[in-house]
Amino acid sequence: MYNENNIFAKILRSEIPCDKVYEDEEVLFFKDINPIAKVHVLGIPKAKCQNLQEFILNSDKETFSNFFKKISKVVDMLGLSNNGYRLITNSGDNGGQEVPHFHVHIIGGEPLGSKLG
Ligand code: AMP
Repeated sequence: MYNENNIFAKILRSEIPCDKVYEDEEVLFFKDINPIAKVHVLGIPKAKCQNLQEFILNSDKETFSNFFKKISKVVDMLGLSNNGYRLITNSGDNGGQEVPHFHVHIIGGEPLGSKLG
């Protein structure tokens, strides 16, 4: 069950601040507080879903496609389109997910190498 007290839910309710990159009615993108590369932005849908699968199963086509279109827009805004970037979504314990609100990491701004970890 979705945990209303997770950090990203608190950010969405403006109970704690974030370094906002882009926001509209359905999505929020903000800088990761502990970046692992020169550019590290998190993208979240405002819908209450814990992981990618819940987002896929619980959102309508428009909401789903809007989220990925906005990822593309933010990638452009961050200047990552030409040199590339990495998208990651962690899910569950084995996936190393710390915050149980579905999110995508957009990472780039420097060569990331071929390893995922
Ligand atoms: P994950 O391990 O995929 O759940 O990633 C959670 C991410 O959220 C980590 O990269 C954290 O650095 C990041 N994070 C945790 N708290 C905050 C916060 N208050 N503002 C921005 N990023 C955060």
